[in-house]
Amino acid sequence: MRTKITLACTECKQRNYNMTKDKKTHPDRMETKKYCRFCKTHTLHKETK
Ligand SMILES: [Zn+2]
Repeated sequence: MRTKITLACTECKQRNYNMTKDKKTHPDRMETKKYCRFCKTHTLHKETK
């Protein structure tokens, strides 16, 4: 069962990515380094609702 999540940049709070995750492998909020086109660099993105 995969759940839709949104990843938001922790620097500028923009929601840059929509993706799905497996709740079994990632029961907690995901944090990944991704490119933010607003910050124009790679920043930490956190899962939001
Ligand atoms: Zn950003």
